[in-house]
Amino acid sequence: MRVYHDQDADMNLLAGRRIGVIGYGNQGRAQALNLRDSGLEVIVGNQEDEYAQQARADGFTVLPLAQAAAQADILLLLIPDEVMPQVFEQEIAPHLSGKVLAFASGYNVAFGFITPPPDVDVVLVAPRMIGAGVRDLYLAGCGFPSFIGVAQDVSGRAKEIALALARGIGSTRAGVVEVTFAQEAELDLFTEQCFGPAFGHVLTTAVDLLLEEGYPPEAVLLELYMSGELSYTLGKIAELGMVEQGALHSRTSQYGSMSRGMRFLLPELRARMRQGLEEIRSGQFAREWAAEQAAGCPTLAALKEAARSLPLYELERELRQALGSVPTYRPAPAARGASLPAVSTGRRWAWLRRLWPRRSRAPDSAALGAAQMETVLRRFLARAAGDPALRAFSRGRQLTTHYVLKDVGLEFTMRFQDGSVAAGLGPPDGPAEVRLETTGEVLDGMFTGRINALRAAMSGQLSFSGEARLAMSVQQVQDDLCRLYRAAREETLA
Ligand code: NDP
Repeated sequence: MRVYHDQDADMNLLAGRRIGVIGYGNQGRAQALNLRDSGLEVIVGNQEDEYAQQARADGFTVLPLAQAAAQADILLLLIPDEVMPQVFEQEIAPHLSGKVLAFASGYNVAFGFITPPPDVDVVLVAPRMIGAGVRDLYLAGCGFPSFIGVAQDVSGRAKEIALALARGIGSTRAGVVEVTFAQEAELDLFTEQCFGPAFGHVLTTAVDLLLEEGYPPEAVLLELYMSGELSYTLGKIAELGMVEQGALHSRTSQYGSMSRGMRFLLPELRARMRQGLEEIRSGQFAREWAAEQAAGCPTLAALKEAARSLPLYELERELRQALGSVPTYRPAPAARGASLPAVSTGRRWAWLRRLWPRRSRAPDSAALGAAQMETVLRRFLARAAGDPALRAFSRGRQLTTHYVLKDVGLEFTMRFQDGSVAAGLGPPDGPAEVRLETTGEVLDGMFTGRINALRAAMSGQLSFSGEARLAMSVQQVQDDLCRLYRAAREETLA
């Protein structure tokens, strides 16, 4: 295991070389200020707007991007990854010959969206810290960890340059680790797409269960994470380690969590994480995200809207208001003194019922039995196969969706292919692009318009595998699917 510190990095390598920080946002501002405070010469490249004004107010020379690229010897590309390929092509690439190109993320190089010219050193200096932390921790004197890497070493000193830059931004004070561009990008995406969401679902599952069992919502949220205890404990885990931080908790807590912990080693979780990692490593995610951006990010907008409509979002908002301020790692006096407003039980439950779909409620009076569901689906699928609106949707597409209703033991498949629609009970002949698994009740709710499919997916009532964009494209004909399903349902119940 190798971790680099100040003594491994020689900033003299950067002496007399002008560093051009391209972009003055989260990372750009923090890194530019740190590099300058470390005694290095820094100019900023930005278009003329409030970021440029901020850089000037901070005392930097600010130039248009191409001019900054031309005048600098070492270029730090610190603009959003999504816009980087185009900006690189137009503004940066023509001025690079013989220079050093540094990235704070491996994404664009690893997935082939940027191919630097062969005569430049290409390095990675990627803080494991948000921009505000990069600056604050530099000023505090303790620094923050970073990954460094080398994609091209023309000078023979690329790694030393990366280490010197890491020292300049204050990272070698805390520790720097070498990785490849691909490893940095894949680990970053894995954290965002697998670890983070899995953790999030553990949290929402716990909230869901405890609310269903009647615990007061404000107590549930405070207990699980909104008191700030969780974030404090995570800090202690990083500082002391998983096992040793246990000493900070009671012996009841230590015994309880260790003796019960094994129950949650779920093989399914590992399999899902592996699937996510494979999507990342194969470039499937990067291609999907590029296509989503080219289309103007409609799926992202819909996902955000659905997330904001989840009951938990509203509960959090109400509790934040009731607390008066967000509880933090170190509670401010106002937060410490703040008491929760008295909420009568009756009001609380009225509030909760409005927000939280109770799973244990009696089934809908019109809920379908398994046999009825099969008949409804058979009729629905027969209608779908001949429907002109679905055929129109199918033009220019190749999409097989496989629905699995485990509780009623039914499966069905809809295939949209070049203007035709094939639909029937049972699994598809070959692999499906999208597979949705839910219950008969939720499917019935979705196809009768009572349940929003995206919300169902986000609250765990429906799970899907495959490309999110493809799965969501079916939403375009959701009204038609509802029309056909309702007709089949009415016919069956008549
Ligand atoms: P920001 O979103 O904060 O970048 C904003 C800056 O980019 C502004 O200067 C903005 O200027 C400029 N910019 C935005 N769009 C364009 C465009 N089309 N053309 C030219 N300039 C543009 O980015 P971050 O600091 O978050 O990220 C920068 C890099 O750092 C990325 O590679 C990221 O992956 C990496 N990184 C980020 C971390 C973070 O916590 N944020 C952590 C570690 C790495 P203007 O709008 O005026 O053009």
